[in-house]
Amino acid sequence: MKDQNTQDSLAPQPAYLDDHDVGNYIGGQMVLSASGRTQPVYNPSLGKIARRLVLSTEEDVQTAVASARAAAPVWANTAPLRRARVLQRFLRLMEEHTDELAAIITAEHGKVFTDAKGEVARGIDVIEFACGIPQLLKGDYTEQIANGIDNWTMRQPLGVVAGITPFNFPCMVPCWMFPVALAAGNAFILKPSERDPSASLLMARLLKEAGLPDGVFNVVQGDKTVVDALLAHPDVAAISFVGSTPIAHYIYERGAHFGKRVQALGGAKNHMIVMPDADIDRTVDALVGAAYGSAGERCMAISVAVLVGSAGEKILPALVERTKSLKIKDGMHLDAEMGPVVTREALERIENYIQLGVEQGAELVVDGRGYKVSDREDGFYIGGTLFDKVTPEMRIYKEEIFGPVLACVHVDDLGQAVDLINAHEFGNGVSCFTSDGHTAREFARRIQVGMVGVNVPIPVPMAWHGFGGWKRSLFGDMHAYGEEGVRFYTKQKSVMQRWPENIDKGNEFIMPTM
Ligand code: NAD
Repeated sequence: MKDQNTQDSLAPQPAYLDDHDVGNYIGGQMVLSASGRTQPVYNPSLGKIARRLVLSTEEDVQTAVASARAAAPVWANTAPLRRARVLQRFLRLMEEHTDELAAIITAEHGKVFTDAKGEVARGIDVIEFACGIPQLLKGDYTEQIANGIDNWTMRQPLGVVAGITPFNFPCMVPCWMFPVALAAGNAFILKPSERDPSASLLMARLLKEAGLPDGVFNVVQGDKTVVDALLAHPDVAAISFVGSTPIAHYIYERGAHFGKRVQALGGAKNHMIVMPDADIDRTVDALVGAAYGSAGERCMAISVAVLVGSAGEKILPALVERTKSLKIKDGMHLDAEMGPVVTREALERIENYIQLGVEQGAELVVDGRGYKVSDREDGFYIGGTLFDKVTPEMRIYKEEIFGPVLACVHVDDLGQAVDLINAHEFGNGVSCFTSDGHTAREFARRIQVGMVGVNVPIPVPMAWHGFGGWKRSLFGDMHAYGEEGVRFYTKQKSVMQRWPENIDKGNEFIMPTM
């Protein structure tokens, strides 16, 4: 029993959690589905049910799509600058309500309050990017492509689009999608994760307060029933998905089957190469934060340290020490470094992987199983876990564990490290810690991964660069947010014009040439 839950100050409690039932937001109103199906929402720190999610039906999806469809034309016809002004007001409200939003996230997800605030801040970055939509929607124009004829391209909204999001970023990942979609003139339907659904409703309330017309943004809570209804609905033009790889693949296939535009971001196994010339103290700091921050429940968490040559013996003693001394407690404590994982099932899955690692011959250097926090005995806690001598054949190397488990693999040189990573099925994020410029350059050029850090452990691209992995970490060709996000949520139209004095020539049956 670790007694880490006593001193220091606490974050504010989430007042928004007073309502017990979590429902939908459709047509500008909070409404509960009549499905009669519910699912508990836990406070992972207490290990107790905190709220009850009312799961929606196919009919609820029909209602939400109808509401979005009715609102979409007026919103699409609203000047981009006016749409941007709504988002500017929303941005300010998100800033004002950051603590409230972060407290809701911590209460349902379990991540520490300070990290939850960081998540909100990264979501706000994308809202700020979307405020620049008038510039981003500017088309191309060519005057006089032939005598008296001009040609230009414009980008127009798709209509009704939907986003399906994972539990691990209940604010930031929806913000990768809806601010850009709305700014581009679409109506949006969000299907949040069942495990932490409440942040979506606060954001819906703030969008309304910012002046977004009713029906332009809707939230439909639920599970596969809702997802399948959105995939099949003929009035939903595009689906953005973020979640695990098997579901991302499913969404991509089904979406394509129904003729939709789909971007589906999947799971990850992110490696950090540590070269023998890396600054050891900085590397250990970075590795501990990237492996155990948010209890490893980040798609950009580092779950494999690739220790090159003598880097292993230099780094491991400090790594073991730091892993053992993580401050693990209720995330509402402002000095907490790691909170619980999201559910009991997640805890059991992670503990099973640890057992599997032992059985398959990895060396368990720090075992986080059975971790208890005082006054939180039923909480879904697990300590930081460190494996050494992991090999590529082991399941703890191949599969995404999505918990605070770091696997160390040893290789002889950079070439072996790059080959190892390139052979992995996932390609979301990667990092290399070194003090040599040539090593860094070769690594960045040769690595087959979408988001690359050099002495940066979690290289999440800024709002105007776009986020997306390679290989089985992304299905589709468009990354989230940034200019690719704008392209995803708009379709290009090419217009060619000629005015009357040239039209009098009568019928033309040959291909026009210059
Ligand atoms: P998940 O795949 O279980 O769920 C994601 C969404 O899909 C949820 O809204 C859920 O309701 C829905 N869903 C689940 N099962 C479904 C089914 N059978 N049919 C239709 N819809 C279904 O993922 P999760 O556990 O919520 O989130 C963790 C996963 O997300 C990890 O794999 C993580 O790597 C990944 N993730 C990836 C990124 C990225 O950018 N690549 C970002 C965050 C999380």
